[in-house]
Amino acid sequence: MIERKVIVIGAGLGGLATSLRLANAGWNVHLLEKSESAGGKLNRFSSDGFVFDTGPSLLTLPELFSDVLSLAGKNFWDLNPKRIDPLFRYIFDDSSELKYTSSLPDISEQIRNLTGSETDVAGFLDFLELGRRIFDLSTQTFFRTAPFSSFNISDLMALIRSPKRQIWGSYSKTIDKFFKDPRIKQIFNRYPTYVGSSPYQAPAMLALIPYMELIKGGWYVPGGLYEIVTSIMNKLPENIKFHPETEVTSINSDGQRWLIKAASGKTFKSEIVVCNVDPETVWNISGGSYGQKHKEKDLSMSGIVALVGHGGQLEKVSHHTVTFSSNYPEEFDSIFRKHQFPDDPTVYINIPSISDPTVAPKGSQGIFIMANAPAIGSQWTDKHTNLALERIRKRLKKTGMDGLLDKSNVLDIWSPSRLEQDYSAPRGAIYGRVSHGWRNSFLRPPIKTEKSPAMYFVGGGTHPGGGTPTVLMSAQIVSRKILQDYA
Ligand SMILES: Cc1cc2nc3c(=O)[nH]c(=O)nc-3n(C[C@H](O)[C@H](O)[C@H](O)COP(=O)(O)OP(=O)(O)OC[C@H]3O[C@@H](n4cnc5c(N)ncnc54)[C@H](O)[C@@H]3O)c2cc1C
Repeated sequence: MIERKVIVIGAGLGGLATSLRLANAGWNVHLLEKSESAGGKLNRFSSDGFVFDTGPSLLTLPELFSDVLSLAGKNFWDLNPKRIDPLFRYIFDDSSELKYTSSLPDISEQIRNLTGSETDVAGFLDFLELGRRIFDLSTQTFFRTAPFSSFNISDLMALIRSPKRQIWGSYSKTIDKFFKDPRIKQIFNRYPTYVGSSPYQAPAMLALIPYMELIKGGWYVPGGLYEIVTSIMNKLPENIKFHPETEVTSINSDGQRWLIKAASGKTFKSEIVVCNVDPETVWNISGGSYGQKHKEKDLSMSGIVALVGHGGQLEKVSHHTVTFSSNYPEEFDSIFRKHQFPDDPTVYINIPSISDPTVAPKGSQGIFIMANAPAIGSQWTDKHTNLALERIRKRLKKTGMDGLLDKSNVLDIWSPSRLEQDYSAPRGAIYGRVSHGWRNSFLRPPIKTEKSPAMYFVGGGTHPGGGTPTVLMSAQIVSRKILQDYA
């Protein structure tokens, strides 16, 4: 057997999962990571007895995580993941609320009580059915392989012909067809933000996200989601050599092999490279020879996150709470057209210590507060942060939660400029290229360059896109492709 060697640049979730898959096939992997630890955007911050996840706070499709952990000889279910139910407490601008659980009869009842009509209950069930059809179709096609690489022609035709308008049409217009009440519309219009996109520009195919979340559940891992990374790193196979604090600063080829230089001066050589960094980072470090430079309009949203330690008990709080802005279209118009933080942001509040007392000192709560923000990278200054926090504070106050920021100790802040700097995320965009229109959603930057030697891509910057489940699918797709190419 030929001994294969591969270099993986970036130890985000996609880089880790690809390394495990290739190592499992007997390859020798060198995993280069600019920061001192692995995980990328799936990261952790600890302070004053509080433990925070700084990135993802909700996981779907747990079987994908189970699959990856098993490659490191670990059982995901031994981490005692919890299915969070109710999934969300939604608070609207008029102060009405909806508790979104995991039970169809219960959600139907909640919608009936809130709207006082059967119309949106029927719309909810029909919308889920649409999500199911798109999800089933995606698992046969989009989630299994990259477009036009090895799609079975009949699957491709099924995707193209399938409820056409409903998949390739406007997401928000689809919502308008299924729902009448503006508050219920706001709940379901929020799902494209899971991939950093606006519901007013995303395709209806993203209707698979609410279906996937409801049927497969929204999960939390005790100790924080970063425990997934810790478990993998504790059992990293011997044929994966992890190189922390190894920032790749240039990548060139001699026609046969890649010559990869790190900031330390060290050079790595390999016939095959997998980039878990965004295609724009590859563009930058290869002098524009490989990867892609994104246009500003093609980037997904960034975010502002405040990690706060709250000393006292909190009333009426849930693991996941969303307090909606008064004008959703205006919020996305600010972010995507004006590239400004919205006057009135929708705010997401995550308090894992409600389900897991180990992540905060006794009697305290660790709170993750997040609002969507434009991907403007280093143009985001402290002035922007102060203004954003002021507006978040106003929104929280409006829904009786002003204490969350005012009476708490703000321990850490993440902004678009920090996301850009720490993760090399282009202009702080969290999900790489935005899923606006069918072209950007379906034809993302490719998983393999046509040039020689072979360069592959994995993670949120490539197919099928950002978010932890799709990043794990990306690792499956690219690993399969590599193993086929070198069989
Ligand atoms: C605030 C926030 C909230 C989120 N919430 C959720 C959520 O609730 N649910 C969900 O599913 N997803 C969520 N996500 C998205 C999710 O975290 C990402 O989609 C996913 O983790 C990205 O994985 P990736 O494989 O693309 O790699 P990344 O995480 O982007 O990792 C890339 C790695 O490459 C390294 N790197 C960059 N440049 C270099 C270089 N030159 N040399 C060497 N290494 C380099 C970086 O340091 C990083 O470790 C959230 C993200 C953030 C930031």
